Amino acid sequence: MTDKSALRILVLDDEPFILKLMSRVLTNLGFTQVTTCDSGRSALDSIDHPNSPPDVILLDLNMPEMDGVEFMRHLVERHYVGSLILVSGEDERMLQTTERLVQAHKISVLGHLNKPVKPKDLSTLLDQFMSPCLSPSPVMKKSYGADEVNTAIFNGELVNYYQPKVDMTNGKVVGVESLVRWRHPQNGMVYPDQFIGVAEEYGLIDDLTRVVVDAAFAQAKTWQSKGLYLRVAINISMHNLATLAFADHVIAAAVVAGIEPDGIVLEVTESQLMKNLTAPLEILTRLCLKRFSLSIDDFGTGHSSLSQLRDIPFNELKIDQGFVHGAASNDTLRAICFASLSLAKQMGMKTVAEGVEDQEDWDFLRSTSCDLAQGYFISKPMPADEIPGWITDWEANFGNVIKPPSER
Ligand code: C2E
Ligand code: MG
Ligand code: MG
Repeated sequence: MTDKSALRILVLDDEPFILKLMSRVLTNLGFTQVTTCDSGRSALDSIDHPNSPPDVILLDLNMPEMDGVEFMRHLVERHYVGSLILVSGEDERMLQTTERLVQAHKISVLGHLNKPVKPKDLSTLLDQFMSPCLSPSPVMKKSYGADEVNTAIFNGELVNYYQPKVDMTNGKVVGVESLVRWRHPQNGMVYPDQFIGVAEEYGLIDDLTRVVVDAAFAQAKTWQSKGLYLRVAINISMHNLATLAFADHVIAAAVVAGIEPDGIVLEVTESQLMKNLTAPLEILTRLCLKRFSLSIDDFGTGHSSLSQLRDIPFNELKIDQGFVHGAASNDTLRAICFASLSLAKQMGMKTVAEGVEDQEDWDFLRSTSCDLAQGYFISKPMPADEIPGWITDWEANFGNVIKPPSER
């Protein structure tokens, strides 16, 4: 929405002085359709008015009768489709938590503002606003059936992309993570979150992982024959670890490809709690004895947690991207990163930060003991044949990336 005068804004705050002030600030910014309410009840009455549901609500969280959180629940019941800006005198952490709560309710949040509100911050948030009918609707992800996924596996439609893992001290590309994609004959590129779950649910994950493993091991050998020694990481589902046959396949595939197990990293994520941990434990221990490296992926999320660290001999810990991106300016994320790094160090494990998206993330991690970084700031996943050229370019330009911020 480009026309500021068409945007309907409702300001909800129990303090009449704030209402007056915000009204004036908004008018000065060019927003002329502003309604103010001093209680949740009167705001709901205004929202229920058939002609004028607001596009944006500036919501004070701390109000004496109906507080902001309760007000949000009423919005959910009314299927409110506009956006919210949260305003509070509470600390930053409280605002962030509430923002996540609103998102969990599937209400769009433009952001949060600390009191006293700065007109410039308010203006920045409102500029982001686009009317729900004009904003691009979220891309509906198609879900695929077991038959289609099965066909993809056996028709050779799956392809591994590779994302570099970089040593934070010297910029060297020490390895790559294999990330599977489905080149769908009609729908183009399909990403793993649209088919890995189906494969796990319908007993196809062993077949899928075999295809991924065979291709990745062959690729590792191809790179080695050109003098490029990269540790290749593969994602393993916990479902793969239910039977001994899978470990046998991995061990045999390394022999067939002619590569050493110590050049392979098996990244394990657990999306569902495993009822029986004995089989995975036995299989992972065997693979570890054969010198494959074991990595705990998405550490700190779901079931990828402390009890797994206790039970499984991991060599590497990957801090989940949800804790990495933005850690530089968020005390909570930073504390989680530090705790994970310290835990890994005490257990003698290497650390990888995933989701390194910008220079700020990178600079923050460089100031920690984290060993490796992976993320869009370095590179997106790419087809295998682009890797050698990319490495040459990256290593030539790395000096600029590691310069201290003052010299850039
Ligand atoms: P993962 O193993 O944690 O992989 C990282 C995911 O984050 C990848 O998504 C990657 O493209 C994405 N990513 C990388 N850098 C950044 C960044 O800077 N910012 C953000 N926001 N994302 C980043 P992708 O390829 O869609 O894979 C998603 C998940 O699917 C993987 O998470 C992994 O759990 C699973 N997966 C991928 N390939 C396989 C596979 O061959 N087998 C199994 N079982 N699971 C796989
Ligand atoms: Mg992974
Ligand atoms: Mg991960």
